[in-house]
Amino acid sequence: MSVTASTESTQSMSSAPAGEVLESLNPATGEVVGTYPVHDEEAVAEAVARARKAARWWSGLGFDERKNRLLAWKRTVVRRIDELARLMHAETGKPTDDARLETIGAIEHIDWAAKHARKVLGPRKVRTGPLAMNLAASVQYQPLGVIGVIGPWNYPILTPVGSIAYALAAGNAVVFKPSEHSPGVGAWIAETFAEAVPEEPVLQVVTGFGPTGAALCRSGVDKVAFTGSTATGKKVMATCAETLTPVIVEAGGKDAVIVADDADIEAAAEAVAFGAMGNAGQTCVGIERAYVTEKVFDAFVDRVATIAAGIRVGAQEDAQLGPITMPSQVEIIRKHITDAVERGGKAVVGGPESVRPPFVHPVVLTDVPEDSAAMTEETFGPTITINRVRDLEEAVAKANATRYGLGSAVYTRSTSKAMEIARRLRSGMTSINSVQTYAMVGALPFGGLGDSGFGRIHGPDGLREFAAAKSIARQKYRMPLPLLSFARKPRHMKLVMWVVRLLHGRGR
Ligand code: NAD
Repeated sequence: MSVTASTESTQSMSSAPAGEVLESLNPATGEVVGTYPVHDEEAVAEAVARARKAARWWSGLGFDERKNRLLAWKRTVVRRIDELARLMHAETGKPTDDARLETIGAIEHIDWAAKHARKVLGPRKVRTGPLAMNLAASVQYQPLGVIGVIGPWNYPILTPVGSIAYALAAGNAVVFKPSEHSPGVGAWIAETFAEAVPEEPVLQVVTGFGPTGAALCRSGVDKVAFTGSTATGKKVMATCAETLTPVIVEAGGKDAVIVADDADIEAAAEAVAFGAMGNAGQTCVGIERAYVTEKVFDAFVDRVATIAAGIRVGAQEDAQLGPITMPSQVEIIRKHITDAVERGGKAVVGGPESVRPPFVHPVVLTDVPEDSAAMTEETFGPTITINRVRDLEEAVAKANATRYGLGSAVYTRSTSKAMEIARRLRSGMTSINSVQTYAMVGALPFGGLGDSGFGRIHGPDGLREFAAAKSIARQKYRMPLPLLSFARKPRHMKLVMWVVRLLHGRGR
């Protein structure tokens, strides 16, 4: 599929000075999928200036009309899902059904954000308390203005839409800088949105490499929603600090699953194999470590190994595991596997020889030293490490012994035990008897702790990230006591202190 973006004509793809061009390459074949402009600082500033005007118009539409437009956009995405899946396959190597599933997740989030923005962000009255009974108080959440969204390539629609849909529903305009590995999907997102909102450039795309992202950070946008690696997140935060631009950082992870004695081993193995190797393991909430109790360790390893060994690897649209999208990642994956094996880990399926660029075939490692790179750093490949633990206490301690804190999972038949473990796992999200399922639930906030970043997309928290609380206190009548006035007398204070002691100074 060949997609060559227009550099001038559409309002959604910002114009750029003639110059450097970005080629989007098919990771399996090296073919050019499309060419896109590299937007420089000036072009980014122009896009943000256009977005400012569009933001005023868009926020003026109000919740109901914005909902109508977002739902119209959603329907367009549904109608054109096959075309998008092929484009995602061409740019990232992702199998087309995985691309469709990812898009379904994005569709759910557009729907949830559109339908809940008024309830979460709209004006509501709040109680004032006895000392302020002369006031009527209300709070509402107002749009910030223009949001800069910087996205990765691994989930090129689900991830950015997790910020974009919520920012738009909250009444902001968006300037989106997709990854240099998936600019076509970025352009497609803006193009389909412009079908539903043709009047103003409410959602624009700027394309390019790191410097285009940095220009967006410096452009005076009102907030930056960044998703990508922890290392780049730190750079983004430093650049945003220059202009005191607030930032959300959705970064990498090293997610663990805990499998207990009483787990359904068949179900756990099936889900964990996909959670680790689906999307060729290039998933921020991919399962990279499994901690399994002694009693079920061998059965679990056997089952995961059988599933992993049977995965169909290839460049076809219907393969189960596609190529590694980013060529530089292949060496990191190779290094982690080699290091784990050299340090005593056992390769139950595959090994260093599984790295055959642009593909990495499934690798299952067991008994890997806890301080090896495969256990401490994000591998981002179709590999999993499975280590045995005495009991669940050891499992929780080891799962939490990471500087990341994005997702986690637990398998046990006991709901009370599962809930207790879920609460103790130091991560933003935990799934019980499933993997990664929280990402598809519109109402559930998504985000991490530690090196996985901060801030939340999705759910009510995700809407509030893109809005500022506005508090209004209206005086209905004058207070009988002139407290905030130079007319205040000692007897007024005496009286108010008597009331305060009565209200707050008694009891335990
Ligand atoms: P990356 O950090 O290389 O790039 C992310 C984006 O940042 C790209 O658009 C890139 O062009 C841009 N960028 C690069 N340098 C920049 C700079 N100095 N200033 C501003 N922008 C800059 O990440 P990637 O390889 O595209 O994505 C993979 C990473 O993303 C993995 O670590 C993965 O775990 C993480 N991820 C996290 C989530 C999440 O929700 N937490 C979701 C998906 C991916």
